[in-house]
Amino acid sequence: MSEHTLEITPEITIPEHLTGQVQARLAYVDEWITGAEVTTSGDQIVLQVKAAPDEARSDELNAKVQSVVNEMARGSFKPKVEILEDHLDRPTSYSKDPMDELLARGEVSEEGTGMFTFGPLMSRLIDYLEGRFLELADSFDAQPYRFPTLMSAKFLGRADYFRAFPHSLTFATHLREDLEIISAFSKDAAYEEDGLNVSPEIFSKIQALLSPATCYHLYFSLADKPLPNGELTATAVGNCFRYESTNLTSLERMWNFSMREVIFVGSKDFVLENREQGRQRMQSVYEELGLAYMVESANDPFFVGEFRKQAAFQNAFQLKFEIRACLPFKDSTLAVGSYNYHQDFFGRHMNITLPDSSPAHTGCVAFGLERFAYAFLAQHGLDPANWPEAVREALS
Ligand code: ATP
Ligand code: ZN
Ligand code: MG
Repeated sequence: MSEHTLEITPEITIPEHLTGQVQARLAYVDEWITGAEVTTSGDQIVLQVKAAPDEARSDELNAKVQSVVNEMARGSFKPKVEILEDHLDRPTSYSKDPMDELLARGEVSEEGTGMFTFGPLMSRLIDYLEGRFLELADSFDAQPYRFPTLMSAKFLGRADYFRAFPHSLTFATHLREDLEIISAFSKDAAYEEDGLNVSPEIFSKIQALLSPATCYHLYFSLADKPLPNGELTATAVGNCFRYESTNLTSLERMWNFSMREVIFVGSKDFVLENREQGRQRMQSVYEELGLAYMVESANDPFFVGEFRKQAAFQNAFQLKFEIRACLPFKDSTLAVGSYNYHQDFFGRHMNITLPDSSPAHTGCVAFGLERFAYAFLAQHGLDPANWPEAVREALS
């Protein structure tokens, strides 16, 4: 952690409901920023910076930060937070950060920023949790799908993803088909300091990205045709990638994680009823897992320019609810999954039509597998003897 800090007084006081979200966006404001903290009162921002900024650099950083705060907070009103389930007071038996013990035991190792390898305990726990999510999928008779890890740039563009979430994209490329380029690379490429010693021109134009979400693949596969039978329920697990910059911390925020989803495509009623059914069916599962959590309305992590409008829209139409598990060691909560409704957004953008020719509606129930396991361990510890019976028995 750098010892240089820069204090900024925002021109607009950041309302409390936005402090976390503004703080998260500040990571992307300038490469000099290695950390940011917004005070709870919202009238002070403390930036951690790589080096001591001179006056010109300070002014520049200040201006960039002010513009982010202005974009996100100007005219923003407190969203109506809806709590659908509240079991935060469910008893838990552990109060440390499980990460220390996981690392010490070799159960988790970090290959690079945000890239983790899991040992047997985490792997078995994740398999068990996934089994529970598959039971949910089965209860809907969801059809299994397998998706690629790469995602087509063409389709992501059509889904307006570049506008909404540019900051967290991860691009996939390859060397241009050129003998000189490939030969030079094979001779000289090496890792130095903070990356490969090569220049961007040797790479091809971007055709693919690493998938930022799982269900998008299903919508892409259904594009430009009528939806057979007018409805579809599917399930899939996928590798997902979100570059969360300096917010990439422990298993809470990874660059590469996995998401199991149950996905609904059909009429508005079909999607909304199933999303609600999914939520209700999961309640007894969380109870068996002994999970202390709440389900609360939320918004997607839109980037600055789109944030205010889109977040308000999601809130007004109740498009997203998060399952937020308690992390006792830091007295906070972490989203381990979400219940989402996209209206006919994908139906329109992907041209997926229902029998009456109207665009299909879509929704999904999504679980972050590593986060779910991490939150479980944060609540119950690493010793299976202290785990809720259902989990202990299944894993013994
Ligand atoms: P957050 O609010 O924490 O950024 P999100 O709202 O972007 O998460 P969704 O798009 O709803 O998350 O994704 C579904 C689930 O995938 C999340 O509830 C979480 O469990 C998991 N997830 C999302 N981003 C990450 C990440 N960077 N690392 C690990 N898991 C993640
Ligand atoms: Zn989804
Ligand atoms: Mg969220």
